Amino acid sequence: MRLDKFLGDHNIGTRKQIKEYVKNGRCSVNGIPAKKADIHIDENVDIIAFDGVELTFSKFHYYMLYKPEGVVSATTDGRNKTVLDLLKDENVKGLNPAGRLDIDTVGLLLLTDDGVLIHRLLSPKKHVDKTYEVHLEKEISDEDIEKLEKGVDIGDVKDNGEPYLTMEAKVIRKETDENGNPVVNLIIHEGRFHQVKRMMEAVGNKVVFLKRVTFGPLVLDETLFPGQYRPLTEIELKELG
Ligand code: URA
Repeated sequence: MRLDKFLGDHNIGTRKQIKEYVKNGRCSVNGIPAKKADIHIDENVDIIAFDGVELTFSKFHYYMLYKPEGVVSATTDGRNKTVLDLLKDENVKGLNPAGRLDIDTVGLLLLTDDGVLIHRLLSPKKHVDKTYEVHLEKEISDEDIEKLEKGVDIGDVKDNGEPYLTMEAKVIRKETDENGNPVVNLIIHEGRFHQVKRMMEAVGNKVVFLKRVTFGPLVLDETLFPGQYRPLTEIELKELG
């Protein structure tokens, strides 16, 4: 296989970009910087690295989707369009979303056929960080931010019947949005049903728009438009571990 084809298959860039990257010495074959992008390599034998990160083929598929509003995080649904409908060009069997976003929530959703990874990311013990950009109905006080950060009662109960308090979280004030609604970034380490909306309700506020911007090490690619997706890069895959 040609080196530029191999790099293209790993989503390193366009043909033109790849040519430039190789010229700049960013790609190595068996530890030696490649001089040209059109050389032939044996992908089963040669070790190809980009910016020092070894590129390997996986039998699984991993996509970052910018979930738009009005689409459900399910594989089938009688009524609404699903996130899988947005990826149907890929013709990959067994894709599943790693977790759920509400129908009116937008933002980062990972879809993969790697069930072990999904299980690991969603395991309650793992406490994978998630950042949400939360647009609120009204101003949020410093006291409410403190409450959200310490843990609030969202109406769930523990096995022993006591109220469940959300885990420690982080709230960062952002600029007001174009409609004049206050905006915060909320970083949580768990993923309970409607968690963000219920946390804001617990402090007497209301979410008017919700966007997930990070999920574990993944950061929403802002070059994507809502409804668009792309394969994860090799570097993102390595970060997922
Ligand atoms: N919290 C919510 O309330 N909704 C989501 O979609 C995600 C987190």
